Amino acid sequence: MSDSEISDALARRLSQFVDEDLLAWCERHNLVRYAAEGDDAGEIVEVVAPPVLLLGPGGDDVRALPNPDALGYPVKRLGEMSLDDYHLFVLRWLTRAVDAGLCRCMVCRQSVRNDAPDEPWDGIFVDKELVCWLIIHFDCKRGLAREFKGRHPFELTPRPPESFDVSRD
Ligand SMILES: [Zn+2]
Repeated sequence: MSDSEISDALARRLSQFVDEDLLAWCERHNLVRYAAEGDDAGEIVEVVAPPVLLLGPGGDDVRALPNPDALGYPVKRLGEMSLDDYHLFVLRWLTRAVDAGLCRCMVCRQSVRNDAPDEPWDGIFVDKELVCWLIIHFDCKRGLAREFKGRHPFELTPRPPESFDVSRD
């Protein structure tokens, strides 16, 4: 593959599950990261990395952002959402993901459960080089900073987000 084919493939891979409305909303809230990649002809290709959800520390745990409109989220339409509104939507989606047994703590790697009141978890928004929401036990928060060393948005391969029922809390 030429460099330009690699850039195109990377751009497609990073944003393939994020529709235009959601990408535009992310851009309005400064949540998208960009990289410039040069191709063979010396052209600069812009690669766009939308935020992701991290259901755990592994490569298979990366999800593209879900669009609340596509899931019938009843509280607010995406176009009317502030970042705080979207946080609430993501927390509801993550709660369903925990119910489904899909989630592991970013720090201790142990499974996260809703039926373990002595091991409460939180969904955390991180807005650094990598923009993401992730899941972590309350008691593991101190270890979070080191998990982000070397994590780069352009090296992740998101999978499509599950279509959870977000019609109620
Ligand atoms: Zn933990």
